[in-house]
Amino acid sequence: MYQSTRNKNITASSSEAIVRGIAADGGLFMFSSESDIKIDVLSLMGKTTFFMATEILSKLLPDFSKEEMAEIVRKAYSGKFETDELTPTVKIGNEYILELFRGPTSAFKDVALSILPLLLTASAKKNGIDDDIVILTATSGDTGKAALEGFQDVPGTKIIVFYPEEGVSAVQKKQMITQKGNNTLVVAVKGNFDDAQTGVKNIFASFKGKEGVRLSSANSINIGRLAPQVVYYFKAYSDLIEMGDIKFGDKVNFCVPTGNFGDILAGYIAKLMGLPVGKLIVASNANNVLTDFFNTGIYDKRRAFLKTASPSMDILISSNLERLLYLSSGCDNDKTAAYMASLNEKGFYKIEAEQLARLQSEFYAGCLSDEGTAGVIKNTYEKKGYLSDTHTAVGIGVYEEYKAKTGDKTPTVILSTASPYKFSGFVASAIGVEAGDNEFETMRRLEEKTGVPIPKNLKNLEELEVLHKTVISKEEMGDLVSAKASEKVWKR
Ligand SMILES: *Cc1c(COP(=O)(O)O)cnc(C)c1O
Repeated sequence: MYQSTRNKNITASSSEAIVRGIAADGGLFMFSSESDIKIDVLSLMGKTTFFMATEILSKLLPDFSKEEMAEIVRKAYSGKFETDELTPTVKIGNEYILELFRGPTSAFKDVALSILPLLLTASAKKNGIDDDIVILTATSGDTGKAALEGFQDVPGTKIIVFYPEEGVSAVQKKQMITQKGNNTLVVAVKGNFDDAQTGVKNIFASFKGKEGVRLSSANSINIGRLAPQVVYYFKAYSDLIEMGDIKFGDKVNFCVPTGNFGDILAGYIAKLMGLPVGKLIVASNANNVLTDFFNTGIYDKRRAFLKTASPSMDILISSNLERLLYLSSGCDNDKTAAYMASLNEKGFYKIEAEQLARLQSEFYAGCLSDEGTAGVIKNTYEKKGYLSDTHTAVGIGVYEEYKAKTGDKTPTVILSTASPYKFSGFVASAIGVEAGDNEFETMRRLEEKTGVPIPKNLKNLEELEVLHKTVISKEEMGDLVSAKASEKVWKR
């Protein structure tokens, strides 16, 4: 059912694809036929999120029966989010905000990382693997914490998170370095996110197997991470019907603050499954490599890496775009492999005009500077009474540009990917709240001014003890993983 985006002879069942994470040739696992994933969309409308998740996930991951998946969904999500609805849709003005940050770490990655550990350990069991699974993850801030929370004390797993020392917000850093659990390790890397991510990719490529240990990934290159994100597109669509704002079959646009291209690709998969999706709008910050790509057909990473107010989108190589290249070329592995080889060797690739035209008919891409982002946060708060985080504001701003440019009146859902309190300093300054002496004081002032409650998990953070203090260079990452992988039990 799954094959490498770069070679159709490298295949895997859905559970194998989850265990392996990435294909042996460096490609990403993707389904080999769109017709396998068609679903009866109408039968999902008006149902609970748990029901939708069960149906959609067992369709995308057919090694799991519906009964098995229902149990996994229940275990993964019960009581973990602010509501069992998981991802509420809120109407502001004429637009809809899909709030994906109501989970245990206040970022959208909770949706996938609450369930990935269960999918992964169940997949290992199905394939007769009883090795210890060591999760390696590079994070630009949010994946790390969400993965740590998901894998903490899950039997048979350990997790190592690498974050760029200067590349995450103060709150994100505090969330990670206070992580509890006897199977967790958090390490700062001197460098930026791409350094950390390249380091992790190199370890995967060169890791010499150790007895009883295998490496896996919690990044969105893992299909087990991508599939759960498809669910909330259906949920949002159902919400719009329930609100009486659309009728079944009407198209809905989705605008997605984008980094590694995982979240928006899940929207594309929802569309392939049959959801009536209009345009998918790719919103980037000043690291606008995707904006250029969708406008010109040239993906060129040879440019400066910029640090912005939306750090989870600071990225030059959007890994999951490879899956879109594969799908939009009619599952052409050779073509996809050639693009990726060009990116590796020359730092860029150019797709053919026909494929570009197809992408442009389904996607729109735009970008917003930090200054623009601050303006959007201010306006959205003052005119619509909604406090948005920096990433979400990029989405709102790019959508406004899209609407002005195209005149498209299709109802549009903007995905909100983080709580504003994860980026309090920037958000406070944008709406004219003076910063406190530290991030936590700023959070309190923001709460006082806006009345928007600080999520519980962030409120308690200040008191927590720092448990992880290791800082290393990117050259030292491999040795550290080797050493830790050999230790049966981790001591702190
Ligand atoms: C990870 C993240 C994104 C980007 O999502 P991708 O799937 O990498 O495109 C956007 N916003 C926030 C807050 C994130 O944590």
